[in-house]
Amino acid sequence: MEEFIGRQVVLSQARVQELNDPHFYIRPAMSIEKHVTCQRCGSQLAKAEHRLPSGKYFCSVCLKFGKLTSDDRLVSIIESPDSQLPREVLLTWQGSLTTLQQTITDRLLQSLQAGRDSLLWAVTGSGKTEMIFPLIHSVLAKGGRVCVTSPRIDVCRELYPRLKSAFVLETVLLLHGNSEESYCYRKLTICTTHQLLHFYQAFDLIIVDEIDAFPYEGDQMLRYGLKQALHLNGRLIYLTATPPLHLIREVEATFAIEKLPVRFHKRPLIVPECHWYLRWESCYKKPSRMKKFLKLLRELLQDNDVLVFCPSLSYMDALCRATSRFFAADIITSVHAEDENRKEKVEKMRQKKYRILFTSTILERGVTFERVSVIVMGANHAVFSKSALVQIAGRVDRKGAYHHGRVLFFYNQNTQAMRQAKKEIKEMNALAKKVGDT
Ligand SMILES: [Zn+2]
Repeated sequence: MEEFIGRQVVLSQARVQELNDPHFYIRPAMSIEKHVTCQRCGSQLAKAEHRLPSGKYFCSVCLKFGKLTSDDRLVSIIESPDSQLPREVLLTWQGSLTTLQQTITDRLLQSLQAGRDSLLWAVTGSGKTEMIFPLIHSVLAKGGRVCVTSPRIDVCRELYPRLKSAFVLETVLLLHGNSEESYCYRKLTICTTHQLLHFYQAFDLIIVDEIDAFPYEGDQMLRYGLKQALHLNGRLIYLTATPPLHLIREVEATFAIEKLPVRFHKRPLIVPECHWYLRWESCYKKPSRMKKFLKLLRELLQDNDVLVFCPSLSYMDALCRATSRFFAADIITSVHAEDENRKEKVEKMRQKKYRILFTSTILERGVTFERVSVIVMGANHAVFSKSALVQIAGRVDRKGAYHHGRVLFFYNQNTQAMRQAKKEIKEMNALAKKVGDT
């Protein structure tokens, strides 16, 4: 029975007839009107293209979660708020919040208690994860169920040990596409936003970390999944360092928006330096075109290791190869999303075994390195949105003592994204100064 609580389990009609318990809530997997609407993922489907030879319909959008046809049923058990009993929940986190973090956390708690959703707009390196512990605690202590979700697997993986040690007496469930752990009912769940498609009116609180990250951003199915997974009286908290304008517009009337402009160590965000680079796209082809890159790279290496963000894989490979000719081979490597050795390479970079790491945008968020500077090759490329540039700049000077970390944008066309990124970083620094002065 437990595997049905807050889930939407796909069963055939025949299997459903065997269930004779009034607790089951059973819905058709698809509603058929002018279009076919998939109840699992919310997609509207044209009838002609989704009709099987048997006359049944199927959903092509959420196929990767298992085949779903109009003959299937979605079976759930919905937990009633009355069945939730207060319990003792121990927050075992030993750290403490700064005064400003505490003030904002108190406001988030007030909103939660008043039944209002919130957006926490906290700059990179502000320590927002620790701020959610009291929020999770308050819901768990009332007997409620909490989910911390993120579009990015890396972020979920990083959250898992931190939440486990903050609530050592709780059993935390981690779910993502590659996880070996199978589903079981838990009061505290961490999962990717994709996994929410398996839940139905499950959580009293869903905290979405990095809400603006790919693939959630712009994906209607994942948005639908989030809303479906939330209990009817449940609350949402969005966390991000870089909310896109459309998200702010979407939530400003109904959500409480809390801004945290100060980094945990109280130093300002590093403002990007923009360097004109005429032929950055083909610089790897000729040593003369590499000069500018190599000169600044060597300059940065005097103080820190360097992450070099590249707009495409082919470009990254070519530039990495060309750069290797000028440095000892064992201090340089590259990494991208499909790289089998991604975890090992990131770990070795953290351990200072590499000094130069070429990367796609995969490392733009969710990872912390000490003592790094960053270079963005072709910051004017379309792949570097304002959010991506702010996140990339946020990799620098996150942790430890100050080591003159720098952020360099190489470009040959000034884009709106670059201008906005720089403006937003400066505005947050100004706000931090104001908050710090009061
Ligand atoms: Zn579907």
